[in-house]
Amino acid sequence: MVDFAFTEEQQLFRNAVREWCAKNLSLEKVREMDTKAEMPREIIKGLADLGLLVMTAPEEHGGTGADWITACIAAEELGYADISIAVPVFFLVESSWGFVVDRYCTEQVRDMVIRKAVKGDAFIGIATTEAGGGSDVAAFKTTAKKEGNEWVLNGEKTYISGTDEAQKMGGGYFVLARTSPPPSPKAMHKGMTGFYVPINAPGVEPMKRFEDMGRMAISTGGFLMKNVRLPDYHVIGEPENGFYVTMEGFDGARILIGAVCVGAAQRALELGMEYIKERKAFGQPIGKFEGIQFELADMWSDLEAYRSLIYRTAWMMDKRYKENRFSALEVTKYISACKLKIPRFAMQVFENVMLWFGAYGYTKECPLEMGVRGIMSYCIGAEGAVNVQRIIIGRELLGKEYIPYK
Ligand SMILES: Cc1cc2nc3c(=O)[nH]c(=O)nc-3n(C[C@H](O)[C@H](O)[C@H](O)COP(=O)(O)OP(=O)(O)OC[C@H]3O[C@@H](n4cnc5c(N)ncnc54)[C@H](O)[C@@H]3O)c2cc1C
Repeated sequence: MVDFAFTEEQQLFRNAVREWCAKNLSLEKVREMDTKAEMPREIIKGLADLGLLVMTAPEEHGGTGADWITACIAAEELGYADISIAVPVFFLVESSWGFVVDRYCTEQVRDMVIRKAVKGDAFIGIATTEAGGGSDVAAFKTTAKKEGNEWVLNGEKTYISGTDEAQKMGGGYFVLARTSPPPSPKAMHKGMTGFYVPINAPGVEPMKRFEDMGRMAISTGGFLMKNVRLPDYHVIGEPENGFYVTMEGFDGARILIGAVCVGAAQRALELGMEYIKERKAFGQPIGKFEGIQFELADMWSDLEAYRSLIYRTAWMMDKRYKENRFSALEVTKYISACKLKIPRFAMQVFENVMLWFGAYGYTKECPLEMGVRGIMSYCIGAEGAVNVQRIIIGRELLGKEYIPYK
């Protein structure tokens, strides 16, 4: 038999996060942050006090040692509260990339960033994307060359989340760099190494913040690396193995994105249900019309299916880490299904509910437009484009020999 219920502890945790969000992340507050394009310090500190920052790190490293089901609960609740998804982005970038950095870093790096990030005193993010493209991770141009006991990094990373926050709070990025030429054109992913690069390291030059269309309270920017010299202990994981560390980080980020989008879609649906009970047309609340009710029933049914997919996948991920029960690639296939389907589904929910709201839905008095602007970032490709998820799923269903670019 399968038990689908959350444990009492998980339910209490959900209640605590929801209560904090109700007090601190009302839709009015979210609108204020969106307008000012800034995440207030007290919000970051509040997340830290709740134990949500890099919560996936073990207790001895300052985290709460949360499993992936618990992290998904937090993501869902934050997505429900902040439908602009800026705070959820901050949370999930740290939970996933903090997780892999903590898992594979040296004690020096842990002291430098992880133990500070859990308190909200540093930011830890991911910097793989380059101007030449993001999907083809193995084709990156950033290089790292060994000189004595140091590595010298050169390159440029762009479309990077949290660059302003990292500059304000301190901290830095998991950066992927080429450390040796690929052994063959079919093995471009080999010869890459992951590094922890502090944003204030000499030679790191942050670039201008982009004017994003959404998730305004968290920045997107980039940085140049000009002869950035890093001691050996900045290497994350085994040298030359950075591609695999990166893929593990994407797994964490992508499942949390799915959970955030489930939460945001739930909120949109609830806002919609309140509205269709009140708004009258042709002498009736519009919720009485089957044209509206049928849409609601379809969206609710899909939402429940996607929520189940998220928690089932998170359960697989926990089994993988705790019991070695599923292979990494088996779990990745399900994670890619979450990243492929759920952000686009959430967009559809926001669009449908906005239509219920009529002209009001098109104004900034209505909160829904913040969701459309925010969730679009995950449809476009933050933490991996949709077709990349399809390539991963196709590879796992048909076999490696069917990878199109090999
Ligand atoms: C708001 C935001 C925040 C971001 N934050 C970060 C961050 O913190 N760190 C970071 O490293 N990156 C970040 N990114 C970048 C993100 O990871 C990339 O956008 C993503 O990897 C896609 O890369 P790209 O934008 O260069 O698109 P491309 O790789 O150029 O892809 C363009 C289009 O081509 C399609 N495509 C690509 N390859 C194939 C193929 N083989 N077959 C079929 N279709 C294909 C893609 O699906 C996409 O639709 C962020 C992006 C956004 C929008």
